[in-house]
Amino acid sequence: MIFVCPSCRGKLIDEVENLLCEDCLERFPLVDGIPVFCEMDSFYEGKWTEPDESAGSLRNWLVKKQRFFVRRLSVKEGRLLDLGCGGGWRLFAASPMAVGIDVSRSSLAAARSIYHRVAAADLGQLPFPDETFALVVSSDVLGHVPLQAKDRVLAEMYRVLARGGRTLHYVEADGQDPVNRFGRRYPDLYEKYITGPEGHIGLETAGETAARFRRHGFVPAREIPCYRGLLYVNRVVQYFDNEYRQKSRLLSASVAVCGTLTRSKAIENLANVAVTLAMEVGDRILPSGWAGGMLVEYRKEP
Ligand SMILES: [Zn+2]
Repeated sequence: MIFVCPSCRGKLIDEVENLLCEDCLERFPLVDGIPVFCEMDSFYEGKWTEPDESAGSLRNWLVKKQRFFVRRLSVKEGRLLDLGCGGGWRLFAASPMAVGIDVSRSSLAAARSIYHRVAAADLGQLPFPDETFALVVSSDVLGHVPLQAKDRVLAEMYRVLARGGRTLHYVEADGQDPVNRFGRRYPDLYEKYITGPEGHIGLETAGETAARFRRHGFVPAREIPCYRGLLYVNRVVQYFDNEYRQKSRLLSASVAVCGTLTRSKAIENLANVAVTLAMEVGDRILPSGWAGGMLVEYRKEP
């Protein structure tokens, strides 16, 4: 069994309906065969309930953060841990042994269909022995971790990563770009429409994100601030087609244009190809502090 007791890292005994820690005698239920080491989080229940079956498709290449993973995971090496796996991603599942953890029952049920093992577990108390994984990955997860819990999560990540192993993440960032700065002028709306619905309760700037990884001993291979001040057209609608439109005529006009573009999926995709190209330019010339996200790859010293 790949799991150990998250509290004391003792060996677990399979009692069919529970896992029993032979050291501290704590019991963890097996729900439909999935070990449950922590409380489920109702906020995430029902949100990502299908595996992402793409693994290097055209769609992945149009989404900058997905392209990063596709490029950097072309070589399959050892066990992979997907932190906050949602319904799982076929690209990660191609690893010789993919393990996912999450806090949503429906997500874990989906991820189980493509991963070797899944469990409900706290990112800050991982149920694995030291140096278990050659790869530890997450996408759109660390921005959901409260600031005061982040150091524990990174320490655990470092602990379970094998020496010489790699860790890759897309981390949502607190962009200082004009659109975000405008959004934050209205804290209630910002919480209601931008950070709240997505659960982005622990955003840091791209620079703070990199500094935190380095403090934990990770050796940087790639630190790429991205999504600098630009949004996909559907995101513009998602974030701003609400009371925000009364705050700025320019914004309202942009929302109207983006709303029109999203009426047809084909046109929306075309528009987002244009946005993707603009992002490639923007991410080269706009200030890195504007980044709404950070793509990182670190190594643990061999
Ligand atoms: Zn124990």
